[in-house]
Amino acid sequence: MTASLPDRLTRYLRDDVRAMHAYVVQDAAGLIKLDAMENPFTLPPALQAALGERLGKVELNRYPGPRVELLRRKLTEHVGIPEGYELILGNGSDELISLLALACAKPGAKVLAPLPGFVMYEISARLQGLDFVGVPLTEDFELNAPAMVAAIERHAPAIVYIAYPNNPTANLWDDAAIERIIAAAPGLVVIDEAYQPFASRSWLGRLAEHPHVLLMRTLSKFGLAGVRLGYLVGPREVVGEIDKARPPYNVSVLNCEAALFALEHAAEFERQATMLKQERERVQAALAQLPGIRAYPSEANMILVRVSDAAAVFAGLKARGVLIKNVCGLHPLLANCVRLTVGTPGENEALLAALSATLKEVSK
Ligand SMILES: *Cc1c(COP(=O)(O)O)cnc(C)c1O
Repeated sequence: MTASLPDRLTRYLRDDVRAMHAYVVQDAAGLIKLDAMENPFTLPPALQAALGERLGKVELNRYPGPRVELLRRKLTEHVGIPEGYELILGNGSDELISLLALACAKPGAKVLAPLPGFVMYEISARLQGLDFVGVPLTEDFELNAPAMVAAIERHAPAIVYIAYPNNPTANLWDDAAIERIIAAAPGLVVIDEAYQPFASRSWLGRLAEHPHVLLMRTLSKFGLAGVRLGYLVGPREVVGEIDKARPPYNVSVLNCEAALFALEHAAEFERQATMLKQERERVQAALAQLPGIRAYPSEANMILVRVSDAAAVFAGLKARGVLIKNVCGLHPLLANCVRLTVGTPGENEALLAALSATLKEVSK
């Protein structure tokens, strides 16, 4: 695209933006889509019809108003946040990550996170003009607490991100290491619990111990990736400042109504999450039987697997109709790693059969 940019525009567009690559969404047409940690279940038909009716009555002619405030209150109840704490809404947690960077974008400000990790922390930081400092995890994807503390002392980051569980490694990090990082951090620490529906632990109950720690979650992995709704929880005075950077109508009336509907039917989504956790254990057990690969423990709806040749496994699965994510190129610690999203029982069967056949072919 850069080649066709009119000459006179090149001097107005940021050089760093022009040098960026756009976020690539893989084409999944005709494939079993196990690449993006989406919940594979759609709503049961009766709920689809009920939702359709609800959405039909939404006042599309009005800017978002009281319903968004209602959603904020309902989520506050649903999550059960501590006294003196507040919750703000984002158009997905991706938007909240941007707002955090924007609110902290002073000259010289930095964002720090372990790597490999969620790519948006770095992309958002750079787009808002902040420096990004990545600190490698250990070989077994644990936090390197001494390295994290040393980097925090050296760089004094405005924001430290801790994804709990982490993407793409899917593990929950050691809480004692997180405590050390929180104690060392001079600015905000954001604990990103995007995969909370599938995890065995949460930091929610420990928030009140640390006024500079914020908790971020999303309804995406819960089952509403298409809706775009994330939230940030923290002390009222702190999230109130971040909220000032938010565009006034960032959550559309349709997002809002769909999220309200989902909260009213939270039991259905909990049932789906329970089934996905069972499926994750079943897939893990099957992966453990396959030769020449190593599947890492998971507290999310994805499993990181190290194979002998990630590109060949990715291609072999795709040829058999299954789309996964090859994360091999993202970081040296992910050499020959692929990331599998846990799908429906049928999708997982197809994935395991395709993987088994692919591994036989690759090892020839
Ligand atoms: C998927 C993901 C998100 C993004 O969620 P959205 O609400 O869909 O923007 C945030 N953090 C992590 C670690 C993720 O994997």
